[in-house]
Amino acid sequence: MKQPAFIFITGGVVSSLGKGIIAASLGRLLKNRGLKVGIQKLDPYINVDSGTLSPYQHGEIYVTADGKECDLDLGHYERFIDETLDKNADLTAGNIYQDVIRRERSGEFLGKTIQVIPHITDAIKENILRAAESSGADVLIVEIGGTVGDIESLPFLEAIRQFRKDVGDVRTLYLHTTLVPYLEAAKELKTKPTQHSVKELRSLGIHPDIIVLRTKQALGDAIREKIADFCDVEKSHVIEAHDQSSIYAVPISLKKEGLDDRVDKKLGLDTAPPEMGEWQAMVERMEKPEREVTIGLVGKYARFEDAYLSISEAFVHAGGDLKTHVNLRFIDTGSFDMQAPGDALSDVHGILVPGGFGPRGAEEKIAAVKYARENNIPFFGICYGMQLAIVESARNLAGLEHANTIEADPKTPHPVVRLEHGQEETSAFGGTLFLGEDACAFTSSSRIEAIYEKSDIEERHRHRYIFNLDYQHTLEKAGIIFSGKHPARGDIKAIERDDHPFFIAVQYHPEFLSRPNAPHPLFREFISHALSQE
Ligand code: GLN
Repeated sequence: MKQPAFIFITGGVVSSLGKGIIAASLGRLLKNRGLKVGIQKLDPYINVDSGTLSPYQHGEIYVTADGKECDLDLGHYERFIDETLDKNADLTAGNIYQDVIRRERSGEFLGKTIQVIPHITDAIKENILRAAESSGADVLIVEIGGTVGDIESLPFLEAIRQFRKDVGDVRTLYLHTTLVPYLEAAKELKTKPTQHSVKELRSLGIHPDIIVLRTKQALGDAIREKIADFCDVEKSHVIEAHDQSSIYAVPISLKKEGLDDRVDKKLGLDTAPPEMGEWQAMVERMEKPEREVTIGLVGKYARFEDAYLSISEAFVHAGGDLKTHVNLRFIDTGSFDMQAPGDALSDVHGILVPGGFGPRGAEEKIAAVKYARENNIPFFGICYGMQLAIVESARNLAGLEHANTIEADPKTPHPVVRLEHGQEETSAFGGTLFLGEDACAFTSSSRIEAIYEKSDIEERHRHRYIFNLDYQHTLEKAGIIFSGKHPARGDIKAIERDDHPFFIAVQYHPEFLSRPNAPHPLFREFISHALSQE
């Protein structure tokens, strides 16, 4: 079997350069050249997993099929390359250090002094090789989080420097991404920050093969030449990444710049140019909508839209398929008036209550569910959204006063959502959730079964609490149809109502499985119903 090749993506000048989108876009181009592509993110922060990071700081927590809580870039990777990544695809400095310290404690290093070089760097390299192996990739793209020059990044940069020595020049490619700012006063694009960043990278022993430049203005020939000269790369290896109207247009624009071609040649991959016709048609559908709907998303982090990134993207995918622009209105529970839900929701065509945690904002979400139910507005609940939809029916239709999830009210007289049997309330913060792919079987002739067009599915989860089956009968009388459950354990995964145009809620996170080229059926159906409200 041919040995895999490795592309290392670093970033300089500023953070939030969109390295993740560039990595994902290059991944798509290489996939369309017929290669098996894997992508891995190495994050220099010390947190052991991303699950406990505040969504305010890092945006959404993405979950892999095998149940790792990850950086949101993993979502971009999966959406762009349409491959299922595993836990090896996301690694933090905390993971590495924890593992090395565990091995040291168990005597594996025979009393040696444990140092960044070689122990931490070796562990990083082992993890890169493991990701290549577990993905079976021809090409593994490795994105290094953070910005060159950060103290935290140093062990990672040293590891990838050594990597080229280990596996050889032919099989490694360093791609550095920077920003070329446009100075309004001088009416000029500035290359100096790029020069400095490349100088910094070279001082660490990494000589970039390709430089990708984020820019708002087209780079002229002179700028390309200057960067080629000062940064010592070939002019054809200076690639422009012009701002695009949609992230899904980035692969097309990078192809025009010849990025995949340069990568192919440098790594000796010997593949043919990619066929991007279908992708292009998909982007055009997204960019030329014929209709428009507004969806109200009622959430605790709604002031920070990245916290719901996969949901937003799932709407872009479903909207593209239906030639519909989905206006996602983020409604923060902090400013949502429960007494007058119509103020924020009277003109929306659909209401979504997403995943969430803790008591804050729960009552507001329950009020939003009630408003959707009573006004026949299409309602879609995800995870906490399903649990709170159950609470709403329990209180307002089954007469269970003060019914609640024990997460929001541990003393509720009617704990309609509770912990799993045998599980204790825990104060541990990380690693205590039910995570990853799990099976769900739909009741025959349920609405959700018709939407999926099958009765047995797998979806990704991230939750601790479940519906309390003691209340099933009472709530069925109140009109809830329990239409999806785990085929063996019987825990509830999906509910619906048949006295409403569209009222569906699920315990899992369908947004993680939506792809631009394959929208998720639940999002698609939700938008179809929202369209009929226009
Ligand atoms: N907080 C709820 C639970 O842990 C829902 C989780 C979620 O919405 N992701 O069960």
